[in-house]
Amino acid sequence: MGQGWAAPGLPSLFLLLLCCGHPMLVPSQEATHQVTTNQATTSSQTTTRQTTQQPATQNPSLVTDEVEARKFVEEYDRRSQVIWNEYAEANWNYNTNITTEASKILLQKNIQMANHTLKFGTWARQFDMTSFQNDSIKRMMKKIQDLERAALPAKELEEYNQILLDMETTYSVASVCHANGTCLQLEPDLTNLMATSRKHEDLLWAWESWRDKVGRAILPFFPKYVELANKAAKLNGYEDAGDSWRAMYEMPTLERDLEQLYQELQPLYLNLHAYVRRALHRHYGPQHINLEGPIPAHLLGNMWAQTWSNIYDLVVPFPSAPKIDATEAMIKQGWTPRRMFEEADNFFTSLGLLPVPFEFWNKSMLEKPTDGREVVCHASAWDFYNGKDFRIKQCTTVNMEDLVVAHHEMGHIQYFMQYKDLPVTFREGANPGFHEAIGDVLALSVSTPKHLHSINLLSSEGGGYEQDINFLMKMALDKIAFVPFSYLVDQWRWRVFDGSITKENYNQEWWNLRLKYQGLCPPVARAQGDFDPGAKFHVPSSVPYIRYFVGFVIQFQFHEALCQAAGHKGPLHTCDIYQSKEAGKRLADAMKLGFSKPWPEAMKLITGQTNMSASAMMNYFKPLLDWLLTENGRHGEKLGWPQYNWTPNSAHSEGPVPGNGRVNFLGLDLEEQQARVGQWVLLFLGVTLLVATLVLTQRLFSIRRHSLHQPHHGPQFGSEVELRHS
Ligand SMILES: [Zn+2]
Repeated sequence: MGQGWAAPGLPSLFLLLLCCGHPMLVPSQEATHQVTTNQATTSSQTTTRQTTQQPATQNPSLVTDEVEARKFVEEYDRRSQVIWNEYAEANWNYNTNITTEASKILLQKNIQMANHTLKFGTWARQFDMTSFQNDSIKRMMKKIQDLERAALPAKELEEYNQILLDMETTYSVASVCHANGTCLQLEPDLTNLMATSRKHEDLLWAWESWRDKVGRAILPFFPKYVELANKAAKLNGYEDAGDSWRAMYEMPTLERDLEQLYQELQPLYLNLHAYVRRALHRHYGPQHINLEGPIPAHLLGNMWAQTWSNIYDLVVPFPSAPKIDATEAMIKQGWTPRRMFEEADNFFTSLGLLPVPFEFWNKSMLEKPTDGREVVCHASAWDFYNGKDFRIKQCTTVNMEDLVVAHHEMGHIQYFMQYKDLPVTFREGANPGFHEAIGDVLALSVSTPKHLHSINLLSSEGGGYEQDINFLMKMALDKIAFVPFSYLVDQWRWRVFDGSITKENYNQEWWNLRLKYQGLCPPVARAQGDFDPGAKFHVPSSVPYIRYFVGFVIQFQFHEALCQAAGHKGPLHTCDIYQSKEAGKRLADAMKLGFSKPWPEAMKLITGQTNMSASAMMNYFKPLLDWLLTENGRHGEKLGWPQYNWTPNSAHSEGPVPGNGRVNFLGLDLEEQQARVGQWVLLFLGVTLLVATLVLTQRLFSIRRHSLHQPHHGPQFGSEVELRHS
């Protein structure tokens, strides 16, 4: 989805806003970097989180006066609003009209931003905060002290900015061409093709061509990008760039906690995967789908197989039940992109939240321009840091998927508006996942048949069992299918940043993770020079991805709590919080905090609890899981992908390629030795999956035993299905 994409708008903007650097405004460039480097070295020896703070006892020249510190942060705030606004304008101009001139101006503004970040960051490092009383000042100072990319020496910073710009431009202007000269861009052409075509050859062409064009073009930039991102992170006291990305969550146990959430959700994914695999087998046949193997990645309705709702028609549980997709009605009724955003705005105001200002409608880009301009189509929301200018850039297509994306983006805008009076340092989400979750929470209500019926987009308001299961299936194709994808993207990048994935193995390790978590394989052999992660927006754009995993999990927590506040009775998936002022107030209170407090405080305001939890998501999909267990049991489905080394390619050409000592393994052209190592790794993964499956089986069994309220439909079959995997 755009989201699913998840529109990064905020992310890319923030990263650029907060990270640029070029030393000029301090006494001397050399001296400044001396300070930066020394401080970073000291801090990294003690902790990777405390960056550059040094105890006063070690350095009596540090400023200990809190009044001075307050004046400093006020000055920083005043200046930042101006500089960040100018930067955002230049970035917007470039994003909505990619020209050499615009990129030159953007690079200049990058330098201005860097000067600002470096000047104030270096200044902030002159304070000793040990005895400060005001937590907000301490929190702001700590953030300002992080120079992010501005910590790089001038030449390297310039190179880094250029690489980032080149990667994003390469991705955004790419098109792929047929032999007859017709060329297709990602949005809307290839996206629509992947969503609507059911012809294997066409899908394969689009999938492969996009990667040949973009992935391969991004690869030459990537190792240097990794090197410089890591260098900047280390200069700020982090172990590497992945460490600095994870620090945004202020959770020492982040990785362990996320793994636990992922594990809790795995039964849902495995059951969905098996069910969808059988449906694809029915449509594409055994030559393209192995019922015990991974699914080829080009058949799931999305360029990255990250969300699968576009193939709903192939997997619909009850085809004769009333429709749940609003696309047809939207088109028939002449909906426009603007109307879609107005509908989202209306939902926010119905909760007592803020309407977007007049300027939003004039300045946003809600449709792909038709005047020949090249633009960055990837949907995004923008804060211009002056408290009144907020915009969305989206190449909107009139369909239900983009209606959800419109709500997603408007969630970012609402967040911007709610915290607009905070100091700029705090104008961020409680954590990055919060920012991603807000709009999606509303979309959970909007997508219900009841709500779509109320705005005249569906003829039936739902309520029957079959329509309910269809609805939950459609939601699962987006929300559950996305769980492993959103988890693995940064598993891959964190390991690239920490050096455990080297450039020789970029693509192979990417596919190892795609197999391990998603149960997907490449539809054609991957070769030297392929760089499939580079064909996903957030990789060349350097936007962290784990925020979407977090956002997807917590949006269900928020939904559950808000439904309770709204007085909803009945199953969670039927809840529509439209017009609930109580629900709106909870969201507003949390959003108003921005980044001024650690995220558990914002979580508490919405849900009453302080942890992330997968239980609301499990609760929401419980009726579907029951149905899937029955359905998969009926087919004797083997969950997981025991034939993990099957690929469509291996079905035709298994074994060594004659004469060159290389073999085809998981669609990759490898040395025999590499393949042998890979087989051992996969064997290990297979055993791990088996053990995990057994544990999950037991847990599922327990869930079923304790389910007192949900009626079972169809035959009961206990745990046989789960016990059959691998
Ligand atoms: Zn977003």
